[in-house]
Amino acid sequence: MSDWQHVRYDRPAERVARITLARAEMANAQNYLMISEVNEAFDVAARDDDVRCIVLAADGDHFSSGHDLSDLDADMSDLHTIGTQCHFDADGAEGYMAREAELYVGMCWRWRNIPKPTIASVQGKVIAGGLMLVWPMDLVICSEEATFSDPVVALGVNGHEYFTHPYEAGARLAKEMLFTGRAITAQEALMHGMVNKVVPREDLESATLEMAAHIARRPMFGLALAKQSVNNSLDAMGQYTALQSAFGLHHVAHSHNRLKFDSIIDPNGIKVIRDEA
Ligand code: ZN
Repeated sequence: MSDWQHVRYDRPAERVARITLARAEMANAQNYLMISEVNEAFDVAARDDDVRCIVLAADGDHFSSGHDLSDLDADMSDLHTIGTQCHFDADGAEGYMAREAELYVGMCWRWRNIPKPTIASVQGKVIAGGLMLVWPMDLVICSEEATFSDPVVALGVNGHEYFTHPYEAGARLAKEMLFTGRAITAQEALMHGMVNKVVPREDLESATLEMAAHIARRPMFGLALAKQSVNNSLDAMGQYTALQSAFGLHHVAHSHNRLKFDSIIDPNGIKVIRDEA
């Protein structure tokens, strides 16, 4: 815990743990190390008998700008992996698909199933892979200026890797987000059920901790069973199958882009996204 570089961990209220993304100078862009450290921090909170609710917050102006694209070929040998994925350095589609299956979809699904309530506390921009840290949480509280976008269709892929868009935004808004790359506002997110509460920026921390402390007064087993029951309902609606199906298509896209552009993304889309930002 003490040698984490991009994540902080504290206990800001009784029976509440808080994990904070601490890479504000990069708008909390996620390199592999940060994702791995977030996972380790969730494990610390999950295994602490005295923790009943876990908050995921972020330093700086923006919750997360997505994946750190400069880190995609990073050495993974020192990272603590949690799944059965392997051959991360293999050629072709094999290695990179394994990286994303482990670090993106695998970690997100693991966090989604932690048997304790989790709350994302969100300010500023959440872009593409940034949503990967918000949507697996049980509850979302955001500040009034927060925005949510997944503009990566411009890069020739279907969306970020944790493809639960229709469950989060409803099918129509999910399609609009993907087709246009438009950032939806906090109020739109509230209206469509993507977030639970919108508060002024200065009240974000206190509102989050108030909700967490309120939840943490309930018995752990009751909370875990309630969470599992709702998650089971999402599973009955096919969420995991849909997620895996979209992940397969996502890697068709990465492979297509590699063949056509020698890059996992269509590089022409970078300008499109920048021009519209
Ligand atoms: Zn990808």
